[in-house]
Amino acid sequence: MTAPFWIAGKPVCGTEAAVVRHPYDDTEAGSHYVPAESDVEAAVAAADAARAEAAGLPAHVRAGALDHVAHALTGRAEEFAQLITAESGKPIRWARAETLRAASTFRWAAEEARRFSGELQRLDTDPGSTGRLALVRRVPRGPVLGITPFNFPLNLVAHKVAPAIAVGAPIVLKPAPATPLTALALGEVLAETDLPAGCWSVLPVGNDDATRLVTDARLPVVSFTGSVPVGWSIRETAARKHVTLELGGNAAVIVCPDWTDLDAAAERIAIFAMYQAGQSCISVQRVYAHDDVADDLTERVVAQVRAMGTGDPRSAETAVGPLIDIAAARRVEAWVADAVAAGARCLTGGERDGATVAPTVLAGVPEDVSVMADEVFGPVVCLNAVGSVDEAFDRVNASRFGLQTGVFTRDLPTAFAASARLDVGGVVVGDVPSFRADQMPYGGVKDSGTGREGPAAAMADLTEERVTVLTGL
Ligand code: NAD
Repeated sequence: MTAPFWIAGKPVCGTEAAVVRHPYDDTEAGSHYVPAESDVEAAVAAADAARAEAAGLPAHVRAGALDHVAHALTGRAEEFAQLITAESGKPIRWARAETLRAASTFRWAAEEARRFSGELQRLDTDPGSTGRLALVRRVPRGPVLGITPFNFPLNLVAHKVAPAIAVGAPIVLKPAPATPLTALALGEVLAETDLPAGCWSVLPVGNDDATRLVTDARLPVVSFTGSVPVGWSIRETAARKHVTLELGGNAAVIVCPDWTDLDAAAERIAIFAMYQAGQSCISVQRVYAHDDVADDLTERVVAQVRAMGTGDPRSAETAVGPLIDIAAARRVEAWVADAVAAGARCLTGGERDGATVAPTVLAGVPEDVSVMADEVFGPVVCLNAVGSVDEAFDRVNASRFGLQTGVFTRDLPTAFAASARLDVGGVVVGDVPSFRADQMPYGGVKDSGTGREGPAAAMADLTEERVTVLTGL
């Protein structure tokens, strides 16, 4: 069945359809109708018209809708997981994990919707304000344009849609062209809720229509997750809008000399360098291991990576599947070759078969080659030895990115120093940077973006304070 798109909560079958292909073997993953320009206009007009009604929805209605979505996703978890795997090539084990995370994101948003409130501020701190109080409410900034990438077709969509519903802001969602089917299936679940028409639309449009949406003044908020160049260009194009950017990175791990369980560190590093074939914004890309532990760690990481099964992502045995397309795999293959030409040692991997790149471990990698300095977004990890933890901090901070860093230490002062000195959005002590609990504030600094997600943080971001001064009290 060709999936409809959604305008103002209603399914629409257009005249044109697009086929989505499985990245692993190019079979058909499904198809969907493509919105025409008039459909895009209808969705934006509906969001604009629904602005006041959405903002006025009682908290129990917003929370009830979000709870319903969480419940329905849990009930249809396997179906959603299969769809994610079919269109993104993500191994089914990770697709299942993503589906449960998305349900959790909606559940958290429901809880936050119930407690989201303002504050009462006393103003009688100066003689001129005696007898006055300020009622500070948070009101939605207005309809939201949510734009999402291919690598988490459900949970990153959830991180756009759920906070918008939670604060009462209409949302127009534009999913990634490679993975629109999951977002369109989420529409079926959203349509079962009591949300008024106009509160949400899902438009699987191309980048030209997306650019038009970015400049449309009726969508004053743009919440974007995707690549660095596209994100920052949106910030320039939409200069007068409120823009949140969740972008890419080259996340690092520091392994300190006090860390004794190198088997555990190696296992976590190997899994989260390779999971989703490295296509996560917080995949482990750079490892800085202290000289005291570097050799032992390297040996263990290589053994872990060599044991990983690659192949068909639909198989539960597969740990590493294809990249999103052959062009991406060719780019990664070329970057690995460049690193080797610049002096890096390839300890395992490096080969490509179609869209699949063999899990690759590089050692002794110069800082200025692309696999270190840019976002590799492939199954490649770079292991480098450092003489001190301070040197590791400096090397992490020298990056133009700053999403999250993992620090393997049990030493409290080192943990606090990492938290204070690392110029990133999040520091994970005792684990890899790839850890993310969906309720925590998440986002980056420097080229990695601006603003934070996680339902509570996003809800603050989608709203602004409105003060009502009460006089004569
Ligand atoms: P991408 O930037 O190519 O595309 C992201 C979305 O932007 C897609 O929906 C795409 O159609 C749309 N888009 C492209 N050009 C546009 C334009 N000119 N105007 C408006 N929209 C436009 O990214 P991708 O390849 O889909 O995803 C991978 C990137 O996403 C990586 O860089 C990754 O690190 C990043 N990412 C970041 C986070 C985070 O939370 N920080 C999470 C996941 C992925």
